[in-house]
Amino acid sequence: MPPEATRLPSNRELAEAFQSIADYMSLDGESSYRILAYEKAADLFGGHPVSVAEMASRGELRDLPGVGQAIEAKVLEYIATGEIALLESLRERYPEGLLTVMHLPGMGPKKTRLVWEAAGIGDIRGLERACREGRIRHIPGMGEKTEAKLLQAIEAWTIRRAGGGEIRRLHSAVEPQAARLVAALRTVPGVFAADYAGSLRRLRATVRDIDLVVAAEEPAAVMDAFETLAEVDRVDERGDTKLAAKTHTGLGVDLRIVRPESYGNLLQHFTGSADHNVALRGHAQRLGYKISEYHVEELATGRLVTCATEAEAYETVGLRYIPPELREDQGEIEAAEAGTLPDLVDLGDLRGDLHVHSDWTDGRATLEQMALGARARGLDYLCFADHSQSLAMTGGLNPERLLDQIEAIRDLDDRVEGIRLLAGIEVDILSDGRLDLPDEALAGLDFVTASIHSGFGQPRAKIMHRLTSAMRNPYVRSIGHPSGRLLGRREPYDVDLDELTRVAVETGTYLEINGSPDRLDLTAQAARHAAAAGATLVVSSDA
Ligand SMILES: [Zn+2]
Repeated sequence: MPPEATRLPSNRELAEAFQSIADYMSLDGESSYRILAYEKAADLFGGHPVSVAEMASRGELRDLPGVGQAIEAKVLEYIATGEIALLESLRERYPEGLLTVMHLPGMGPKKTRLVWEAAGIGDIRGLERACREGRIRHIPGMGEKTEAKLLQAIEAWTIRRAGGGEIRRLHSAVEPQAARLVAALRTVPGVFAADYAGSLRRLRATVRDIDLVVAAEEPAAVMDAFETLAEVDRVDERGDTKLAAKTHTGLGVDLRIVRPESYGNLLQHFTGSADHNVALRGHAQRLGYKISEYHVEELATGRLVTCATEAEAYETVGLRYIPPELREDQGEIEAAEAGTLPDLVDLGDLRGDLHVHSDWTDGRATLEQMALGARARGLDYLCFADHSQSLAMTGGLNPERLLDQIEAIRDLDDRVEGIRLLAGIEVDILSDGRLDLPDEALAGLDFVTASIHSGFGQPRAKIMHRLTSAMRNPYVRSIGHPSGRLLGRREPYDVDLDELTRVAVETGTYLEINGSPDRLDLTAQAARHAAAAGATLVVSSDA
């Protein structure tokens, strides 16, 4: 039988099928409980590191949380027939392009059905035409503003798609998968060292694929072992010392293997960034060296220096070891030469957390669970910062509930040893610049973070008016996630970083580095800029 016929569907494929079922069902007005079951299955399959189809064939699928008989049956049906009857019947009812329309910001299932039924719009280009021709404004509940917003959303969608479909994923989604692959490679006989490289190793906020580098004498044996790993869906290309593959989650993996004595050169080269490597080559050249992924060459003599570690590679060209996080051509080479590289903050340096949410609003854990969790992680203090009242969907706190919460926190602080618990809030900065709670309510708190959660599209002057008004409030100590970006989902609002920093310094307001994986806000560059200008930064989890 040809390999295609026996190939099991990848996790990605299964996730897409189940997500489509969920999407069509929501178009269909199906109950949210059923939709959720398919959505959960799609998330679960899409993020599962080993083959879901193989698990299903072995009868192990229902060991996964939330997978019941109905989901299992559909996976088996897909494996056996290449389709799912339920999905096919849903597909017959709606044009496929409607799903893209439904996912546009501001659309959703109800409006999508409405434009389809009222105006016969079945795909994104149809919607675009209708907006331009002013036909959407006649549909009940929509207006000229809707048309303008939709056109913007369609433009953004078009630009994203023109990006070649290169999906960048959150670092936090990719790192565990890469770590599994590295751990597996390190157990392969004959492997001296294995690491992931690239933007993942440089701790960039988002990454596109996984670069793996391995030190071994016999590349073929390493590649043979790699091909059999449970995480690997398929191998696209294989050469003598490199291989390209895809994981079950649809991530591209490039594996490169080098002899142990050159491992430092290879790891350095494939960790990048490209800009760092260009600057490094320039630096090396000025000293009479040429640096590459194989070795460092002394140009005058032709002598080749191979480096087993990265530190040796940097040392050969007169530099201290530069941590991967700093390799972005932001002055790190000059600093390494002068011996003025900064000490990086690591987890052990964090003494407390000033921004966490509990189940009093949109958090999942109780105050006590959060407190014990923080203590177990070695923090000295923890400040609760639940949402304020205007964020109604999170159950935001009004002054009365805030008083209750303060009491609960004081009480807990008396009972729990080994960590100091503080009462705070993440008070919303309203669209006119006022705060969502009166000063009297804020006065009783230990620490107040103020954040923007609405009106992201306002012009710069308005945004800055809101931020600076908040910073001038005597009770506000910190600005939460100062740019408002959500990686892959929302651009930052129009903030003037210079002014933000200036007023922060003037008022003594801290600026937050929000550690939520989809925020990472301030960005590294903005944080550096703010710190250089004299602002104090707080590192928070927003957990
Ligand atoms: Zn927030």
